Parts: sequence; C-alpha cells; structure tokens
Amino acid sequence: GASGFVAGETLIDLFPSASGPLTSVSGFEHRPGGAPANVAVGVAALDDAPGFWTVLGDDAFAAFLSSTLDDHGVPGEFVERTEGKTALAVVTREADAERSFSFYAEGTATFDFDAAALPVSAFEEREWVHVGGVALADEASRAATLAVVERARDAGCVVSFDPNARAELWRDAATAERVLGEAVAAADVVFCSADDLALLGVDTDAARERPARTARGLLERGPETVFLTRGSEGATAATRTANEGNAGDGGRSSDGSGSVVVSEPAFAVDAVDTTGAGDAFTAAALTRYEPGAGASALREVVRYANAVAALATTATGAMGAIPTPERVERFLDDSGR
Ligand code: ATP
Repeated sequence: GASGFVAGETLIDLFPSASGPLTSVSGFEHRPGGAPANVAVGVAALDDAPGFWTVLGDDAFAAFLSSTLDDHGVPGEFVERTEGKTALAVVTREADAERSFSFYAEGTATFDFDAAALPVSAFEEREWVHVGGVALADEASRAATLAVVERARDAGCVVSFDPNARAELWRDAATAERVLGEAVAAADVVFCSADDLALLGVDTDAARERPARTARGLLERGPETVFLTRGSEGATAATRTANEGNAGDGGRSSDGSGSVVVSEPAFAVDAVDTTGAGDAFTAAALTRYEPGAGASALREVVRYANAVAALATTATGAMGAIPTPERVERFLDDSGR
C-alpha cells in the first residue's frame, strides 16, 4: 500500500544552455524541480506512489508542474492549488560541473504552505514522511514544515529529512546551522551531501577523509540513521543498534548504545548530468530502509540507492532520469552480485 509521504516544494529549475556566468548565457530550459518533488517522483517510479503535499500556483508553470506530477504517477490528492506564481530556481553551471542556484521565490505560491490545510488523515498508514530544508529557510513555510514533522512523529511515522543546502537562501550561516540542526535532531533518518555538511557546520575535509567518523558524529545529534552521499565516491550510512554491531565498522557511542557504519563505493557510469542524483539516492533509500536495520541490511540499502543514483546521472534532468525498477535490477545483476 501507499507507505510513504513527501511534503515540500515543486518549482521550476531554469537550466542554462551553457556553463559559465549568467551574463553570458543565451538561453534557459525550464525543468520541473524542487528536491521534495524529485523525491516524490523517484519513489513513485521505484515503488508505490507516496502521498505528496505541495502547493502549486495558477500560472503556466504551475500547469506544467501539475501535469508533470501526473505523468510520473504522483497522486494529486494532497496537491494544493492557490493564486500566485511558481518559484524559479535559476541554475548556474560552473566550469567544474558544480551548480549553484539563485531563487526567485519571494511572494510566490510555491512556498505558501499552511499545515492547517493538510488533512489529519494524511499520515494514516504511512511508514515514513520526508521533508526537505529549502522550505525551512523562511516563514511561513518553515512553521508549516516543522508542523508536518511534528504531526508525522505523533502519527508514529519515521521522519526523514534532507537539508538540501542552498546557502544563498538563508539570511546568514548561523541561522541555517541552527534551524537545519534542529531539524536533523528532530528526524529519524537524515540524508546529507557535502554541501549539507558545510551548512550544518561540519568540517567537509574531515568528512571526505573520514566519512565513517562524520556519520557517527551526526548520529550523536539525534537521528537513528544517517546517510552521507559522497558523489562519485559513493555513500556511507550509520545507524544506531541496540547491541554492538559485529559487521561493518562497528562501534560504541558515548551513551553506550551501539552503532554500525557501512560504506559502499559509487557505481562506475558515464555521468552526463548529476542534477538530482542526491534526490534519486534519497528516493531509493526510502523505499528500502527499515528502522532497526543491521549492518548487512543497511549495506544493501546503500548499494541499491547508489545504483539508482548512478543510473540517474546517465540521463539529463532530475525527474525523467529515475530508472525503472527492472533497469535497476538488471544493472545490479550485471554489476556482479
Ligand atoms: P545533487 O545536489 O546533484 O542532487 P548531491 O550533492 O545531493 O546531488 P551527491 O553526493 O553528489 O549528492 O550524489 C548522490 C549520490 O549519487 C552518490 O552518493 C552516488 O551514489 C551517486 N553519484 C553521484 N555522482 C556520481 C557519479 N559521478 N558516478 C556514480 N554515482 C554518482
């Protein structure tokens, strides 16, 4: 049955035709985006469609996003329509294949969330609820997102959180670190990329050299499980255990409870567009994650999510690039398990 629920923004990524400064770019392609929307689409592609709470305006971009969500099998039950425009995330492609974002979001319908509008029944029978950090940058979407987290927790759902670090959205680094840190502490499962770690005040050089230690450090902030995505290096996951793990890289934290950490390399693919790789990873992991997973189950989750994310980098865009479950199975078989 429908076991997951995603809440957050669906917006337009304006993707430039060339890399380099926007002053020298001649054209843009409009692509459906918003990290939570990417995750909802990813889950729908790989598994049962999740519930998806998002707000769409009444402009042409909103109509485009609405039909895009439909096309990807995301149910419209919790998709709200309101007056107003769609937020734009203007992408800059740096020469080194990195991307940065500039948001045109103020006063748009996209971030006009009101948790009071979300039916009480939304979380019934849901195993997990996933939210992202972009909506935490400003009110009123911050309060609405935190209300979703609280209601999901009250409903007994696993709460999943991806900081989705976009430094320029935040008034200052201290606010970002505090608000995102509180969300990390409130979540059961956290997904972090290198950019997210930076905004959370974690030393990214140390994280690159000692990802297991960084993952354990994040567990101490409160979540039960942490996934660190490490681009072409793969991913690391850490989880608390009742008993000390004897597989993987086991250890004990200061409060005496155990933890296990597993790392898996990325799959070698010809990456053409890494946009949404992190969201593909998150979607895949959410469909396979079980609370209380031991080292070997966690390793399988990471391997599966690495495979989905690697395949997603071999096609352009975030939503259209999610592979089918059959494609993932074949890829894993061919990779010699
Ligand atoms: P994005 O912001 O583009 O969505 P991210 O920065 O959140 O991505 P990354 O850590 O860059 O996330 O990548 C997420 C996952 O995607 C990695 O853990 C890995 O599994 C996969 N991945 C990313 N880049 C590559 C690559 N070049 N080759 C294979 N797999 C990759």
